[in-house]
Amino acid sequence: MKYAENIVDLVGNTPLVKLNRVTQGVTEATVLVKLEYLNPGGSVKDRIASRMIDAAERDGLLKPGGTIVEPTSGNTGVGLALVAQERGYDCIFVVPDKFGEEKRNVLTAYGAEVVVTPTSVAPDSPESYYSVSDRIVRETPGAFKPNQFANPNGPRAHYETTGPEIWRDTEGKVTHFVAGIGTGGTITGTGRYLRDVSEDRVRIVGADPDGSVYSGGTGRPYFVEGVGEDMWPDTYDPAVPHEVLAISDADAFAMTRRLAREEGLLVGGSSGMAVVAALQAAARPDVTADDVFVVLLPDGGRGYLNKIFNDKWMRAYGFGNAPSGHTVADLLA
Ligand code: PMP
Repeated sequence: MKYAENIVDLVGNTPLVKLNRVTQGVTEATVLVKLEYLNPGGSVKDRIASRMIDAAERDGLLKPGGTIVEPTSGNTGVGLALVAQERGYDCIFVVPDKFGEEKRNVLTAYGAEVVVTPTSVAPDSPESYYSVSDRIVRETPGAFKPNQFANPNGPRAHYETTGPEIWRDTEGKVTHFVAGIGTGGTITGTGRYLRDVSEDRVRIVGADPDGSVYSGGTGRPYFVEGVGEDMWPDTYDPAVPHEVLAISDADAFAMTRRLAREEGLLVGGSSGMAVVAALQAAARPDVTADDVFVVLLPDGGRGYLNKIFNDKWMRAYGFGNAPSGHTVADLLA
């Protein structure tokens, strides 16, 4: 019989698929996307959740009956909830009120407790996302906070799984790796592995929302979710990417919609952003038909049906309708 012992064993080993339409007229290179929405919790964050919990158990930080407490709005919470449920831990997630009810409902569906905090308070306010999660950790016996922005097991999970999977599945032919930067765990771990294993032959390209610090911004707001920062987390090593490209919300969202309509890939906005960065890099004159780009797509599009895929929301925020007739050449112009 072929079956997994439990749901957590199904994390990772996501497939690569070639882009066929959005690359037309842009590049001769092979552009492959790695579908992280096929993880059991629906995102790349399942990888770090299982690794952070394994490590906490090993280090004695998390004991049977313990409670996992993390400030998170979405994907990391789902990953943690899934692993926690399988192993009998409780979860409390602290979520800022700017995130939609739908995202919170997913967390409660997995059996987690959700505490909502106001977005419009200073980080040092007792009501803030950070202060509230710290207080819950202090007041809850057996509490453990994975702290995804500082936990070295995040990048490590990618060094040990995402990187080797890409090298194995491309038979060592990958020439470029492209990923968005949130905590930086994905690009730091995967990028470092691919540089090490290829003796620095693989070029690592970061994708960042225009305005975020990784691409030289000040932390100015942007709408794409899960990527970009206004501070520098410990989980990001800026020495790993060879370059970081700043991508606008408008370009990221237009490409996200094209991926659904033209490639059958219903993915989130940070996926569209990473593909725009990949196509910019792949359109350069020194790129040839022998180049193989691998772009990591972090999550699926269902969590964004009321935003990126909703014409009214797009118009209300000035992103237009991004009709399917839009060409990459238009976007890159
Ligand atoms: N996209 C989405 C939708 C995410 O949730 C995340 C994780 N914050 C990322 C991209 C970025 O991944 P990382 O934190 O590993 O840089």
